[in-house]
Amino acid sequence: MRRVSRRTLLRNGAQAALASGVVLSQIPALETRALAKSSFPAVDYYAKLGVTPFINAAGTYTTLSASTMPDEVQAAIALASRRPVHLNELLDASGAYLAKRLRCEAALVTSGAAAALVLGTAACVTLGNEQSILAIPTDMAGLKNEVIVQKSHRYDYDHALRNCGIRFVDVETLEEYEQAFTDRTVMAHFFNAGEGKISREDWVRVAHQHKVPCFNDAAADVPPISNLWNYTQMGFDLVTFSGGKGLRGPQCTGLLLGRKELIEAAKKNNSPNSNTVGRGMKVAKEEIVGLVAAVDWFLSQDDAAMEAEYRQRADRIAKRVSDLPTVQTQIFIPEVANHVPHLLVSYDQNRIKITGREVMHKMRVGTPRIELNPSTGGAPASAGLPGGPSTIVVGVWMLQPGEDTIVAKRLREVLQEAAE
Ligand SMILES: *Cc1c(COP(=O)(O)O)cnc(C)c1O
Repeated sequence: MRRVSRRTLLRNGAQAALASGVVLSQIPALETRALAKSSFPAVDYYAKLGVTPFINAAGTYTTLSASTMPDEVQAAIALASRRPVHLNELLDASGAYLAKRLRCEAALVTSGAAAALVLGTAACVTLGNEQSILAIPTDMAGLKNEVIVQKSHRYDYDHALRNCGIRFVDVETLEEYEQAFTDRTVMAHFFNAGEGKISREDWVRVAHQHKVPCFNDAAADVPPISNLWNYTQMGFDLVTFSGGKGLRGPQCTGLLLGRKELIEAAKKNNSPNSNTVGRGMKVAKEEIVGLVAAVDWFLSQDDAAMEAEYRQRADRIAKRVSDLPTVQTQIFIPEVANHVPHLLVSYDQNRIKITGREVMHKMRVGTPRIELNPSTGGAPASAGLPGGPSTIVVGVWMLQPGEDTIVAKRLREVLQEAAE
């Protein structure tokens, strides 16, 4: 076979083959280039199925399909989808690559942060023991099964941990925490965006005094970019991030980061191994590659530049509505989760006679459809966001270029129609 120089390959757009460590001479440059492009015109299945997409002025909410993937992530997925690989080789190689880039001992691509919670807990409970892997969650005899958690950190993802047969032991104060450890304690769980009396540092310190691993759920907590290593470096033994939220990878991916022996144990509880608690949490080659590409993309971003861009979008929308009677606007950044500028629009319902919920509904059924942040007119939809009957919350970070203008125009229209 003709040998191709490295330069020729790069010129021909085969960086992907190079980066993945494939033996170069096995894939002629021309073929790789052909693989990168599809010659088929894409069918618009949303249109075919009659499902109307919307402008995302909400944020990265799961039921709203969270985020969209940057072009380079989509391209990496399309290329990877065309060749079979050994799934375990890809899981191992992607894990090693991610661990290095994210400055932790080990990493695993999971089918989401919720799956990472299951697998991380399964790792702590089974420690990779084959019989225990088979036994959970129903046959817990002889297995440690108590997970300590702050009462205020009990949340909508409790079930992910409970899938492993554990039960929660709730604590509120540091003193209660110190006294909660027994010979059945298997893990200490922390909800990174949760509120509570016990700090992250104390949480880790006390758990480690008792030689118990601790898990931090930081699913929605990038940006800042550095959070991807802050919590493992703080000492948490396991940390998860959702792949489809701020990272903008495939929605059905997540990162499980942490100590090598626990990540190895998590892997054994995971697909593609059958008869495990994780077998239903399969990640495909496209998704694994997609998340790796998304991490590469995210690490190439800049926190200050992202924040500046989101502020500009929020400002442009604010300017279009701020002269309406009683309207007040404010840019708000939640402290931990979804830590990006959001626009808050509030008004006096005696002068603009419409509730936040009604505004949200009108935006949703208009053309084009627009989804406002689900905190609009109601209770906070995620940790740290405000809400209230006459507060409109615009999440600007998932808007595509130019969409802020469309949102601004429509929001003004809806509010103006209701103004006295
Ligand atoms: C979104 C979220 C999850 C679940 O993430 P997926 O990637 O959708 O599985 C878990 N925990 C918290 C705190 C979240 O915000």
